[in-house]
Amino acid sequence: MAKLQQSPKAVYIHIPFCTNKCYYCDFNSFVLNGQPVDAYLTALEQEMERTVRLLPPERIDTVFVGGGTPTVLTPPQMTRFLASVQRQFPVSKTAEFTMEANPGTTEADKLAAMREGGVNRISFGVQSFDNGLLERIGRIHSVDDVYRSLELARAAGFSNLSIDLMFGLPGQTPELLEGSVERALALDLPHYSLYGLKVEENTLFHTLYERNELPLPSEEDELAMYLLIMERLKAAGRRQYEISNFARPGFESRHNITYWRNEPYYGLGAGAHGYAQGLRHVNIKGVQPFIDAAGSTLPRMSEERIPEQEAMEDFMMVGLRVLDGVRNADFAAQFPGRSIDSVFGAVLRPLLDTGLLARIEDTDGYGYRLTEQGVPLGNEVFGAFIAVAEK
Ligand code: SF4
Repeated sequence: MAKLQQSPKAVYIHIPFCTNKCYYCDFNSFVLNGQPVDAYLTALEQEMERTVRLLPPERIDTVFVGGGTPTVLTPPQMTRFLASVQRQFPVSKTAEFTMEANPGTTEADKLAAMREGGVNRISFGVQSFDNGLLERIGRIHSVDDVYRSLELARAAGFSNLSIDLMFGLPGQTPELLEGSVERALALDLPHYSLYGLKVEENTLFHTLYERNELPLPSEEDELAMYLLIMERLKAAGRRQYEISNFARPGFESRHNITYWRNEPYYGLGAGAHGYAQGLRHVNIKGVQPFIDAAGSTLPRMSEERIPEQEAMEDFMMVGLRVLDGVRNADFAAQFPGRSIDSVFGAVLRPLLDTGLLARIEDTDGYGYRLTEQGVPLGNEVFGAFIAVAEK
């Protein structure tokens, strides 16, 4: 069976509630106050039931609970939610089970409920170790909350911990970023994600940007920040395994690797995307409309079959984000009878000539990866694979 037809081994579940809305955020998240959280958890379980009935999973190797801020659930809600996941999905004993968390939302009793429910990896949205900058981007936690949350997580028995940091923020200088990176590394965590700010539409930052009131760093400074990140993380023994992700060997995010390999995953919750059996779906985004729909059907906003050409382009675009690159053997497993060279030869040539991509040849066949020079120019490379058929 072509790999894309198999039932997914990865599950993404979205909890769309946050204590407040950050100024740069365009995720599907709603301010918690007054939201029907218990009814949402009921709807989620209804969606899980319908999903596994329609496409029964054999074994689940990774679960990722994202948001929003999943850790705004109360301890009893957390226990109830995680029990429903375990009831509906055959989560393997060795699965990676990640939950996103925000500093200041993880008290000891909640962490205990998370562990009890199977969570074994936490990804904290820290963003910066500078209180002024945190305030400026609309985050409500402080640097002290970060230290306290990590201490509590460790005390609760979590060792597979990751933090997200951001760069390219308004008012951020390479020196300020350097301070944050150093404080982050001093925590000696196995995994770090570092994301550049993107000003998305329908955010407060977008409005300010349009009015010329968002003092973003220059492109040169932003590049200097990215290079500094790569250099510091490498010196600290965290291998860059993806454009934005760094880990001690063995601590790479297995769930995210599913996306980067273009492999199928279940996607549940308001606004979540899923990809299974060649179909991509997007769920209804609003909380109440999601709840209303889940009572009688799968709460989907849209579902479409991904044409083979588009799926092949996705394979290259997301696969090249991983620094080990893409392999023709994996491509052929997803697209029987096809090869990377026959489909993308014309796109690859200039990228090889300009030194942004390198060809890999070994006993397993061939593949392609970003070169050191290509990593900071990744977006240029990925863009070359969009809508190749129409070019
Ligand atoms: S915590 Fe995350 S999801 Fe929630 S508003 Fe901030 S950026 Fe968005």
